[in-house]
Amino acid sequence: MNSSTYDIAVIGGGVVGLSFAMQAAEQFPSLRVVILEKEAGVARHQTGHNSGVIHSGVYYKPGSLKARLCVQGAREMVEFCALHGIPHEVCGKLIVATTADEAAWLDDLLARGQANGLVGLRLLEPVEMREIEPHVGGVRALLVPSTGITDYAMVTAKYAEIAAGRGAELKTDAAVVGFRSSASEVVIQTRAGDFSARYVVNCAGLYSDRVAQMAGCDPELMIVPLRGEYYDLAPARADLVRWLIYPVPDPQYPFLGVHFTRRIHGNVDAGPNAVLAFRREGYRWTDFDLGEAMEVFRYPGFQKFARTQWKNGVREIRRSLVKREFVRSLQRLVPEVRYADMTPGGSGVRAQAMGADGSLVDDFRFVPRERFLHVLNVPSPAATASLPIGREILGMVRAAGVA
Ligand SMILES: Cc1cc2nc3c(=O)[nH]c(=O)nc-3n(C[C@H](O)[C@H](O)[C@H](O)COP(=O)(O)OP(=O)(O)OC[C@H]3O[C@@H](n4cnc5c(N)ncnc54)[C@H](O)[C@@H]3O)c2cc1C
Repeated sequence: MNSSTYDIAVIGGGVVGLSFAMQAAEQFPSLRVVILEKEAGVARHQTGHNSGVIHSGVYYKPGSLKARLCVQGAREMVEFCALHGIPHEVCGKLIVATTADEAAWLDDLLARGQANGLVGLRLLEPVEMREIEPHVGGVRALLVPSTGITDYAMVTAKYAEIAAGRGAELKTDAAVVGFRSSASEVVIQTRAGDFSARYVVNCAGLYSDRVAQMAGCDPELMIVPLRGEYYDLAPARADLVRWLIYPVPDPQYPFLGVHFTRRIHGNVDAGPNAVLAFRREGYRWTDFDLGEAMEVFRYPGFQKFARTQWKNGVREIRRSLVKREFVRSLQRLVPEVRYADMTPGGSGVRAQAMGADGSLVDDFRFVPRERFLHVLNVPSPAATASLPIGREILGMVRAAGVA
């Protein structure tokens, strides 16, 4: 075996790839594991640009992977943070209805959360809501006590440190650009040279479909980059929000709606919205890649999606470009928030898988193919669920006969 030959190569140093690598290094101590990351460090994309929420699992369809792995993952994430001294807080959140229709949907959410095994969920009337969040508006709320907050870049750095301590090797600046396969191994071509592995786990996030295609797998979906933009709440007004205040999500739409989040480091922000990015790693409107943008516009799935969802799309674009619209959404949750209180903040880009029929792939998706496992849809709550997701991948790697 030469020095660049490994048993398992993981592509992508985000929270998912590194959770798997950390657990693989523990479970298969005699195997050589390498993580190939195209950036100079870990957690540079979705993982380092998210809301930092430890989701409870209240939203997801009972029986789905998202529901099961999120509920389990939330518990494990809290334990992991406590064990390793990573700042975290199980602060709970309010999902706030602002209309009678939304108030009725809260009953469905409550039933869903209970079906997913959550405890302590409680419907609150306005007086009780304001005991928890004194400045909240709305007519009714669902209290979700098990929701928490943390810093997923710190979590991922810890996964990387533990993985390295167990012998896994992290290669940064190693963008994967192609593969050659022989009978016994895969040669992975990267910007840092070639690496050989018996098995490859593709956790490339926003590029996971591309990596699958490079490996000769038709992913039967496209990763559509959806940017989520945040506004920061002025520190002098941060007492308007104690913890997390969310709207009732639109049941037709996979996103949670712009919400207030108190971050683990103390600041409060609001977001994220969901607008199409013209580049997979396009964090601003001005980030544009003609090839990547055209690829989305030409995709039959996107064309179908755009025909049915154009109204939502236009609303999101308006809310992105017109601050007053963004603030108006927030005032439904906290009426005292003023235009001047909010300043543009950071952003993240979601890797949202879309099928050729225009549907957004809802559940996590893993596609095993010979010497590869392609992790093709792990959007939110995958940071929360990263520990059990890593274990799911371990099970598939075992089933492939690698260990
Ligand atoms: C705005 C936003 C808010 C969110 N909020 C939450 C939240 O509050 N709670 C929660 O649980 N989840 C949240 N999520 C979801 C969560 O962040 C993601 O599900 C999770 O980070 C996915 O991790 P990943 O490792 O799959 O992807 P990533 O973190 O994107 O990692 C993929 C890695 O692959 C690398 N890569 C790509 N192509 C190649 C290549 N060719 N060669 C080598 N490396 C490559 C990238 O550089 C990257 O480091 C949010 C996501 C976003 C975008």
